[in-house]
Amino acid sequence: MRLVLLGPPGCGKGTQAARLCAREGVVHLSTGDLLRAAVAAGTPLGLRAKPIMDAGKLVPDDLVIGLVRERLEAKDAAKGFLLDGFPRTIPQADALDRELGRDRALQAVVYYVLGDEEIVRRSLGRGRSDDTEPVIRERLRVYRAQTEPLVARYRAAGLLAEVDASGSMDQVEALTKAAVAGRTGGRAR
Ligand code: AMP
Repeated sequence: MRLVLLGPPGCGKGTQAARLCAREGVVHLSTGDLLRAAVAAGTPLGLRAKPIMDAGKLVPDDLVIGLVRERLEAKDAAKGFLLDGFPRTIPQADALDRELGRDRALQAVVYYVLGDEEIVRRSLGRGRSDDTEPVIRERLRVYRAQTEPLVARYRAAGLLAEVDASGSMDQVEALTKAAVAGRTGGRAR
């Protein structure tokens, strides 16, 4: 299974990613989690990323691409991976295609669709330190400007599987399963 989960911040893709990875035994690669770990550990990357994350902006492509590349080259990623929160820009998507090559090309991109007001409501409920309303609105603006263009790219590549993210976590999980069934090496679980 080689998947990307794409969607606005706060759409629940982190939860869905964790569930899918637990079920399928593939690597869950969340750039947000990796960056938060770097911040918590006080590494040079973390020190650079923290003010950017606190402002709801995107961490520079080269830093994030480096993190992902390292993780995808690790042995355990050979049996599959699920990218959560990456790629978020066209250059990140280009770097990902280069890194994966033809042998490990993506099988599907699950695209979670959710309206702005529901996104703000859910994000406020998460209680993360970067989840104040102005920061949430900025993340959403950045998402629409920088990340949403990826939808057309993956649709044109025949990879996009749209999922309505407005239901409960269980409902969205069922829709996710249905969306990826038949696209990931015949496994419909
Ligand atoms: P997330 O947990 O995916 O919502 O990410 C939290 C924050 O980490 C984002 O608001 C960004 O500041 C940063 N971040 C995570 N993934 C990326 C990425 N692929 N590119 C740039 N910044 C990222």
